Amino acid sequence: MPFKDLNLSADILRGVVSAGYTDPTPIQLRAIPVVLSGRDLIASAQTGTGKTAAFALPILSKLGAHSRAPRVLILEPTRELAAQVETAFRDFARHTDIRTVALFGGVGYGAQRNELKRGVDVIAATPGRLVDFIKGGELSLGTIEILVLDEVDRMLDMGFLPVVKDIIARCPKSRQTLFFSATVPPEIAAVASFALRNPERVECGVNRSVNESVNHALYPVAWSQKFDLLVALLEKTDFQSVLVFSRTKHGADKIASRLKAAKHTVAVLHANRSQNQRIEALAGFKSGKYEIMVATDIAARGIDVAGVSHVINYDVPENPEDYVHRIGRTGRAMAVGDAFTLVSPENASDIRDIQRFIGAKIPELRLEGFPYLPFVVNPSYPKKGQQQQRRGGGGGGGGQRSPQASGPRGGGRSQSGGPSGGGRSGGGGFRGRR
Ligand code: AMP
Repeated sequence: MPFKDLNLSADILRGVVSAGYTDPTPIQLRAIPVVLSGRDLIASAQTGTGKTAAFALPILSKLGAHSRAPRVLILEPTRELAAQVETAFRDFARHTDIRTVALFGGVGYGAQRNELKRGVDVIAATPGRLVDFIKGGELSLGTIEILVLDEVDRMLDMGFLPVVKDIIARCPKSRQTLFFSATVPPEIAAVASFALRNPERVECGVNRSVNESVNHALYPVAWSQKFDLLVALLEKTDFQSVLVFSRTKHGADKIASRLKAAKHTVAVLHANRSQNQRIEALAGFKSGKYEIMVATDIAARGIDVAGVSHVINYDVPENPEDYVHRIGRTGRAMAVGDAFTLVSPENASDIRDIQRFIGAKIPELRLEGFPYLPFVVNPSYPKKGQQQQRRGGGGGGGGQRSPQASGPRGGGRSQSGGPSGGGRSGGGGFRGRR
């Protein structure tokens, strides 16, 4: 079904054309009619499948034209997402006079305050800064007609539940409420029971699955060689832009400075960076100024960067759900992307959990010509990991073996095998630039 049959307003249809969209994605096909009907909604969709337009287009169609008091509030877990969603609303509304604002912390209040004073229709906000404006008497939610909670699962993970409850309570009871989340764990049902009325449920695909347009693989490697393998993979790859994930902020800084020393242009995105640094990093990565961005999960959740050709998990994510989110940064909206995870023996149980979560085994690759050392467990790895390792052994880890094992599959210098496709750009399993 084309966009024009979805009952969107003429102005918003023009915005869709200007955005260059031709056909709705599955989540858009299913969610747009529900939002237009006025019903509450819980929607789950794989990341990168067009979730934002699925709520932005029908909401803007319903708003019609500008009026002074804010009518739509979208809550986002991170500043980047608030900014990104507000930009999407503004773009889709470009043929209307509807006004939007993004409210988030880490930057001054002045510009956001001025926008609020001028009068806005749509607010995309992180909970903390929104509450600051409410408590300062500069904003009331009494005129909100549509409340959207985006990335609800992450919002709850980040401990926003009390403030989110407070914000919901400040909105009129007669509102329409929409929950959008990449995954819908049971905890969300508890929030839904007080926030939503008789919601329609829309699930697109299995919400644990990995986007089909992503090729993903594991690269087993000794802990001590992770950085060398990262550099070697980058050397052998004809990439457009690479997102590298680290578990910790400190780790992200360290990886970034070592990559810079290896003459790469690198941006860093994590919660300890100032908001201006975060904005500059993301803008520079999007514009191509930086070829690599090193990020932690919280900062990178949901960000949409067109043309990310590769995601590399330098560290295996702690939560299986984060694996799906991380690799969802590539292959967005049906472009094809590659996602690779460096795994050392310490990660055996994490990998097993991820494979169980996504219901699939992740193929293993090795980089031809890389001087692999035997895999030995890093003695300084946290105890929990070592315990898991002892419990978990190598099952499901695909190449993860007992801590004492050495010379793992694919790990020895003399061993052959590994991915098909030799040659400079294909030897590591990476495909060339698309
Ligand atoms: P989202 O899941 O909302 O973060 O969207 C992921 C990416 O898909 C964004 O770059 C959108 O601009 C793009 N996108 C969303 N809907 C469509 C569509 N119907 N056709 C093409 N691209 C789309």
